[in-house]
Amino acid sequence: MARWMRAGRTVSVSTLDNKILAALKGGLGHEDKCKLGDGFVAVSPDGHLYPCERLVAEDDRPDDRVGHVSTGIERPKVACLRPDIGEDRHAVNEECSTCAEKFRCAASCACANRAETGSLQVAGGVQCWHEKTSARIADRMAESLFADLDPVFLRWFYGRMGIDADLLAAKIRSGELQVPALRTDPKAIGAIARRRDGKRALRVI
Ligand code: SF4
Ligand code: SF4
Repeated sequence: MARWMRAGRTVSVSTLDNKILAALKGGLGHEDKCKLGDGFVAVSPDGHLYPCERLVAEDDRPDDRVGHVSTGIERPKVACLRPDIGEDRHAVNEECSTCAEKFRCAASCACANRAETGSLQVAGGVQCWHEKTSARIADRMAESLFADLDPVFLRWFYGRMGIDADLLAAKIRSGELQVPALRTDPKAIGAIARRRDGKRALRVI
């Protein structure tokens, strides 16, 4: 991906894109987290309501249903799907509470949780590994491309955040905007932004 960007082509890998964008905007927002029936439902051909389209499956698990088109949503059932989930809708694993990647970890996906652990609200080791590994790869790539002020990278990521990527590069080159030594600071991708409420947020340019 980095090689193609250096060659002038925009290449998108959503797993890596999402990690970089989440870092730039200061973490996943409430709207990015799994709502699981709280705001949308999936409808089976027989009219049963499910909290997620992946849970419809063969439409043969009554415990996963949260209502029917003829009778509406049964809200208590929605609440019971993940009884211990907090405001942040993240998996309830103890280790997540102190994890530095929690701010952009996708372990709110109830289906992914269930597929691995059998519980809609408990994340599994494979997902955890995937989240940490993809974040590490994304950060290394982003730091490298940012250090080069690669125009394709800057436009693809900073441009989508509403920032004039060419102006950003020009300000850094002229010294008007100071950035840390990106190749020496492993947390540099976050350091190009300012901290706010314990999370990373974009520098105002
Ligand atoms: S990376 Fe692993 S430990 Fe960290 S928040 Fe995600 S699931 Fe939890
Ligand atoms: S469980 Fe996963 S796939 Fe289903 S709505 Fe939530 S995030 Fe989406």
